[in-house]
This record gives sequence, structure tokens and C-alpha cells, in this order.
Amino acid sequence: MKGEIEMKVPFVSFKPLEKELDSQLRAAFERVYDRSWYIGGEEDSLFEKEFANYCEADYCVGTGNGLDALMLALKSLGVGDGDEVIVPANTYIATALAVTYVGAIPVLVDPDINTFNIDVTKVEEHITSKTKVIMPVHLYGQPCDMNEIMKIAKKYNLFVVEDCAQAHGATYNGKKVGSFGNAAGFSFYPGKNLGALGDAGAIVTNDEVVAKKARALGNYGSDYKYHHIYKGNNSRLDEIQAAFLRVKLNILDKVNGDRRRIAKRYIGEINNAKVVMPSVPDYCNPVWHVFGIRTFQRNELEKHLNENGISTNMHYPSPIHMHDCYRDLGYKKGDYPIAEEISETELSLPMYYGMTDEEIKQVIDVVNLF
Ligand SMILES: *Cc1c(COP(=O)(O)O)cnc(C)c1O
Repeated sequence: MKGEIEMKVPFVSFKPLEKELDSQLRAAFERVYDRSWYIGGEEDSLFEKEFANYCEADYCVGTGNGLDALMLALKSLGVGDGDEVIVPANTYIATALAVTYVGAIPVLVDPDINTFNIDVTKVEEHITSKTKVIMPVHLYGQPCDMNEIMKIAKKYNLFVVEDCAQAHGATYNGKKVGSFGNAAGFSFYPGKNLGALGDAGAIVTNDEVVAKKARALGNYGSDYKYHHIYKGNNSRLDEIQAAFLRVKLNILDKVNGDRRRIAKRYIGEINNAKVVMPSVPDYCNPVWHVFGIRTFQRNELEKHLNENGISTNMHYPSPIHMHDCYRDLGYKKGDYPIAEEISETELSLPMYYGMTDEEIKQVIDVVNLF
């Protein structure tokens, strides 16, 4: 097929969305700029209300990024030195780092090969007297089995903090992710389904005490001006980012719908025996942050796609326990065989709002020709 490439298909493009929202984003900037009020203002508090409402939760607290949202959620629940937090072995490094930053220890659990999410049948064997929290990650935009996770949490009296950084708007049995646990962390990194034009994040919770504590902790531990009740840090949501996020939140359902359109075509039209397509349990309505396929010829397929104009990615080439920074946890290769298999076989296909039918068809055709 080489030589007859019709076009280049990027892995992700912001262009279609930015074109559609151009005048609204510029107006949002001007609204903030004209007020000269950049931290903790009207846009922030309106976005927090709107996003809590969108997530079917009572409170939202804006933060500087998704890592801080997870960290502040854990801190607000009193998680700290020596506590253990259960996290999946296959996730972005930030999930584990949030645990480490509060002084707790990430305890890894192998994922399920079909859903890529934490294997709920393997959680209980990792619970000890030090376990405080289960931290499920709705990876690639697909909800974890929350009924089972909440059941285990209840049985052992544990908190649940959802990592929703990849799953804005995804539902489990019709209910939005982020509304199940004691708290949830969201990232609005530009490439996420709801992305700012820079770094941003938020905590969502139904617990007023957690919301208040998280807000104070992210604002120098201050509950009111020059009054400091905690040794907090500085992680707040910028007014400008909040204004941009309000514009983008308005069309988040449309953006997720477009991702579902692309996923539906991939699932329906890719038929190559060398490739395993992602499977979606009945209880899920995913938002396809990542469209990950699996193949034992991953490097060859990647080369084939790249040579035919299609950009790809991997999520993630290394599971948490194989990173240099986590050598101190004492894990070794072979400890998490499923996470390791995913890291060796997963390949992510292009997925973004506004992908044209021709671009989608090219991806399908080139995968099928492999
Ligand atoms: C992006 C991401 C984060 C961190 O978000 P930032 O805004 O980049 O700090 C945390 N967890 C997961 C699963 C992510 O994908």
C-alpha cells in the first residue's frame, strides 16, 4: 500500500473542535481579561457548579491539574504516612504518584485483559490492615465495575477515590463516573475528553467536609484570608482555564458522542484475526479517551500503520511496577502478568472529535490489510 497514501491521519487533532468553538473561546478570554480577575473568581465558581451538576455530584473544587486533584482528594480523606492505597498496575503514572505524594504506598492489582481495568476479583487478596482506599481508574474512558468495587469497600470499610482523568461523562449503569466514590479526581489536560488550553483539574465529591478541606488544602491550607488551618499547597483552577472549560463543557456530550461514532465504526469494520478489539461490558457507556487494540505483532502493526500515514500511540509501554522510580516497591517482572501483557500488546488508534469519515476509513482499511 506504500506509495498510495491518500492523507496523513494524526493520532489526535484539536483543530476541528477549536474551529467550531473559535469565537466562543476568544470571547471567554476577553471576558476574563476585561475583568482583570485571574484567580478564584466568577468563572471558577460557575464552572465548579456546572461540572458538579454534569457529574451528578454535589461539589466540585477546581485544582491546578489532575495529579493534584487526586492527591488533594486523598489528603482530604486523611490518607497519609504508611497507609496503603489499591491502584491498578496498568494506568498512567500519575495515579500512583498521587498516592506516593501523600506519603502512602500504592499497592498494585492486575487489570482484566478484556476491559483493561482493575480486576475486581483480585482486589481482596491485596487488602491488609493498612489499606485505606481503593483507587479505581476508568482507563481509556471505560468505567470500572463500580458495584463490585463499592461492595468490597463497604465490606472492609475503605474509601473509594475514582481516577476519572480519562472518563469525563462516561456512565456505569446509567450513572456518571465520579459520583460513586467518596471523591474523584479529574484532569483537564488539553488532550483529555474535556481539555483546558493548559493544565487544569478538579475534585468532585458528595461530601461537604471533603470539598471544604480540599479547597483549603489547595489554597495554602487557608479557610479564609490569612487564616491557615493546614500546611497546604497552591493548586487552584485559573479563571481563564475555567472560562475555556465552561465553553467546552457545553459540548462535551457532543464530543463524547463523536468519539462513540468513531469507536462504533472501528469495532464494526475492523476485522483482522491478528487484532483483538476492546470489549465493552453491558454496564458501561465509555467515552473512548483512548481506543486501544491488542495484537502480539504490535511493533509490526505500528510500523505498518505509520508507513501508511497513520499515527499511533501506546497506553502504556510500561506498567507501574516496571518504572525505575518505583523500584523501591520491590516488584519484579512477572508479578503482574496481565499488566505486562497489555504493555506489550496494546496499540492506540487515532481518536478525536471531528475525525472525518475518510480518515476513519483509512485507519480501518490499513488495519485490515495488515
Ligand atoms: C492525565 C491523567 C492524570 C493526571 O492528570 P494531569 O492533569 O496531567 O496531572 C491522572 N490519571 C490518569 C489516569 C490520567 O490519564
